[in-house]
Amino acid sequence: AAGELRLLLLENISQDAVKAFRDQGFQVDWFPKAWTEQELIDKINSYHAIGIRSKTKITERVIKAASNLLVIGCFCIGTNQVDLNAAARAGVPVFNSPFSNSRSVAELVVAEVISLSRQLFDRAYEMKRGIWNKVSKNCWEIRGKTLGIVGYGHIGSQLSVLAEAFGMRVLFYDVLNIMPLGSARQVPTLKDLLRQSDFVTLHVPELPETLNMIQAEQLADMKKGSYLINNSRGRVVDIPALVASLKKGHLAGAALDVYPAEPGGNGQPFDDQLNSWASAIQDLPNVILTPHIGGSTEEAQRMIGEEVSAALSRYLNFGSTLGAVNFPEVDLRAIPDDQTNQIRVCHVHLNQPGVLRQVNEILSDYNVEKQYSDSKGDIAYVMTDISNVSRADIETLHGQITQTRANIITRLL
Ligand code: NAD
Repeated sequence: AAGELRLLLLENISQDAVKAFRDQGFQVDWFPKAWTEQELIDKINSYHAIGIRSKTKITERVIKAASNLLVIGCFCIGTNQVDLNAAARAGVPVFNSPFSNSRSVAELVVAEVISLSRQLFDRAYEMKRGIWNKVSKNCWEIRGKTLGIVGYGHIGSQLSVLAEAFGMRVLFYDVLNIMPLGSARQVPTLKDLLRQSDFVTLHVPELPETLNMIQAEQLADMKKGSYLINNSRGRVVDIPALVASLKKGHLAGAALDVYPAEPGGNGQPFDDQLNSWASAIQDLPNVILTPHIGGSTEEAQRMIGEEVSAALSRYLNFGSTLGAVNFPEVDLRAIPDDQTNQIRVCHVHLNQPGVLRQVNEILSDYNVEKQYSDSKGDIAYVMTDISNVSRADIETLHGQITQTRANIITRLL
């Protein structure tokens, strides 16, 4: 029952999440700061779930010490602060919130399209230095211009809708065939997109295939006087090639929010020591550089809190692993409240032959209402709803399944 489960929330996780957990009956300990590895090793043993952001490192040693831990929630986008394989081997799914800030990024791109088109940052910067410089040459409306979106996923597709509302024509290129929204049109190759677009905006993940996806050749394919916008990942663009294209006047401007190397925290320098081309790009006109703020809004933070706390509760209460980053994704509809003689058997086990036969043998005295099994690498997870179970059976069943040789974690809900 929820009341027996203790949650540890570190790194100032939103009070909305704390309240949501407490309302469901969980015991919550909340701390504003990250804990060190040693602090975690000393204390994590008494917790069933932990919520962190990017600064708490959950290493293999921490996971070994966490003998009661059921689930980890990363209240952020990235999950590389967690040893995901060690967690999976211990039967602990890890959840994050990869898409909660899609809208924030899409809105920033709209702002950048207009700002580049009107040379807004240069004019505003001049005014701050007391310079009046009224210009209309090479300043354009965005109405009727073509926006080329590379990667039509969560962000790219949101942006598509916003751009059409401004009267832009939208083209997109994606490795998947995706149903276009509104009047957008998918083009078959990146080259097609680059040749037709007035603005090219990148929304692909960082993958081996997307490293330096935009380099000298692709920049040369872009229209003269067009603009490049990158809010995806820093290594997708070859920046020295971009600098060369801007210097030549082939591109009329660029906006970058992400970089191959980024400072570790606020106040640290962004200079040639970090990225050798930094001062070269800082000196160019109509280039907007922002410190990876695409997803940084109050709304996105709130959505992260809601999404990750909902995923933790769903796992603790119903065993659902939909959206877990390191785990087979398994889910069944919640057992209706009036089915009081039904229970859910959640069995995380080593991915070996014969496990299902063994487990179903143990369950054979009951009626199996539903069963769902999936595997990922060495780990497999089977969820089974059985009926005609009496309270007295529960402990016996739990003991029998826990003793099977591939067992990692078994919970009866
Ligand atoms: P997503 O997974 O929803 O969409 C990515 C799309 O790119 C998919 O449709 C996929 O099919 C497509 N794709 C993959 N490889 C491709 C290739 N080689 N060529 C063309 N298309 C390809 O991702 P998303 O949530 O839209 O995020 C997109 C990017 O934005 C990611 O890199 C993410 O890390 C980044 N991001 C940045 C910020 C920020 O603060 N600047 C915030 C959130 C996300």
